Amino acid sequence: MNAHHSDILVIGAGPAGLHAAFYAAWRGLSVRVLEARGEVGGQLSALYPDKRVYDVPGLPGARAAEVVAHLLEQLDGLDVDMRVNTVARELEKSDDGWRVSTDGDTFTAGAVILAAGLGALLPRATRIPGAEDHPDVRTDFPDPTELGGRRVLIVGGVPQAARAALELLDAGAKVTLTHSRALFRGSPRTLEKLEAARTSRGLEILAPARLLTLTPQGAEVEVGGKTRSVEADTVLILGGYLPDLSPIGAWPLDWRGEYVPDAPGGRTALEGVYVVGDLAQSGGDFKLISVAFAQAAIAANHAAHHVRPELRVRPGHSSEKR
Ligand SMILES: Cc1cc2nc3c(=O)[nH]c(=O)nc-3n(C[C@H](O)[C@H](O)[C@H](O)COP(=O)(O)OP(=O)(O)OC[C@H]3O[C@@H](n4cnc5c(N)ncnc54)[C@H](O)[C@@H]3O)c2cc1C
Repeated sequence: MNAHHSDILVIGAGPAGLHAAFYAAWRGLSVRVLEARGEVGGQLSALYPDKRVYDVPGLPGARAAEVVAHLLEQLDGLDVDMRVNTVARELEKSDDGWRVSTDGDTFTAGAVILAAGLGALLPRATRIPGAEDHPDVRTDFPDPTELGGRRVLIVGGVPQAARAALELLDAGAKVTLTHSRALFRGSPRTLEKLEAARTSRGLEILAPARLLTLTPQGAEVEVGGKTRSVEADTVLILGGYLPDLSPIGAWPLDWRGEYVPDAPGGRTALEGVYVVGDLAQSGGDFKLISVAFAQAAIAANHAAHHVRPELRVRPGHSSEKR
């Protein structure tokens, strides 16, 4: 795939974007996906990774994070370039389709599939005293392999905090986890593992505790009425995520509130730009994963035909292809 051009550019790596990426790539097209967060999965991984989901066809009762893992597995071996920590901000017509700019890059594509859901799921802003004094403060789920061997302080009680603690221990980091309440959120299994890691893997848990301030060396934390200094090379503030449509809100898509109107095939007011999932107006009251999958399959095949008119819109049956 060209470093900056792909046949299809998908914006958003929630279930709609991941399934659209699968379908377009499976039709033989090159696909690039831009995702604002540090991990893929949209609302499933940001807002409810440990909840069980009962209405995803074929995966009854799977945890949301498992649904995401299956969607990713389906991309194995396909021509899909996944760019996380990348917010799409500008859209312009280009000679060969559309040009989308992010903070540091510009990408072109024959067609764009907008799968931005409720908006970019950006870390909830939390004011932490002294944050400007510490050299490495992060606010999204990390790539654990980057932090092996480091002393990491994780602040937060959301499911991502418990999971980050375990994944960072696996990667060889020395981890301290702190939260204002005694209880952490997460699946029973994750919480059991957390407790086991405290006794057998050197995980330090300070909870309930009050983060007083970050310092250049780490943090000052109040636990049981006493102040403790915690040394940390990296501080991860994990406080959950809030959706933000403003990065794409000025795109001329004939917006209806938080929705983009979609004609048959997922077409928008802009030729070659398609919309799927929670962002598409036709879904209305049906903001559901199964609806997102269907819209993604339809739009990806229309987008494939748009980019390569020699490809029929109809994909045929996967069971009859290799
Ligand atoms: C608590 C909860 C429980 C739910 N339970 C169920 C359930 O049981 N069954 C069910 O069917 N549905 C459920 N849903 C709804 C379901 O999660 C959504 O319908 C689904 O996630 C929609 O998928 P999507 O891909 O359209 O959007 P999203 O999942 O919102 O993904 C959109 C992605 O696009 C990214 N993005 C947005 N803007 C940009 C940008 N400018 N640049 C780059 N990336 C961007 C976002 O960061 C996000 O990752 C639940 C939702 C919640 C909140």
